[in-house]
Amino acid sequence: MRMLIMGAPGAGKGTQASSLAAAYGVPAVSTGDIFRANIKQGTALGKRVQALISAGEYVPDDVTESIVADRLAEEDCAGGFLLDGFPRTMHQVRFLDRHLASQGKRLDAVVSLLVDPEVLVGRLLDRAAQEGRSDDNEDVIRRRMEVYAGQTAPLLFHYQGKGLLVDVEGTGTVDEVRERMLAAVEAHTSDR
Ligand code: AMP
Repeated sequence: MRMLIMGAPGAGKGTQASSLAAAYGVPAVSTGDIFRANIKQGTALGKRVQALISAGEYVPDDVTESIVADRLAEEDCAGGFLLDGFPRTMHQVRFLDRHLASQGKRLDAVVSLLVDPEVLVGRLLDRAAQEGRSDDNEDVIRRRMEVYAGQTAPLLFHYQGKGLLVDVEGTGTVDEVRERMLAAVEAHTSDR
């Protein structure tokens, strides 16, 4: 299974990605986690991306794409993967389509977690209090929402057009959303 999980900031992507990846026995690859790990370790990549991430802006496509290419080349991704937080721009979508096609592979499903924007801001402020992420203060949250709406939300149409989109209502408890998501992905993939 090669899958993506998409959703606005605070939609629960990271949390649900772990369950989805575990259910299909594939690694969950989060570009946000890779960036945060690099920032924490003070690597050259971390230094390059720190200010952008703290401001709620996207990391440049070429940087993000090369990280994804390296990660997908690792052995644990050979049998499938779940990408969490990538692609986020049309450039990244084209990169991923080409990258997979060059290996005779394609995506099986794109999960879209749908949550009311007002619920999202509240969730992000709660997460800021709990995890202390540098990109979870109110101004930056607003900026991340804006960037998502402008650059990433339109990608859903691309995947819808390819018949890959699996819409999942993301409101409710973590367990409710997980069960709903797993059932929807199962229904989608058994249809194909
Ligand atoms: P996330 O944990 O997925 O919310 O990602 C945190 C931050 O990392 C984002 O707000 C971006 O600044 C950066 N980031 C993660 N993935 C990407 C991507 N695919 N393209 C550009 N920037 C990204």
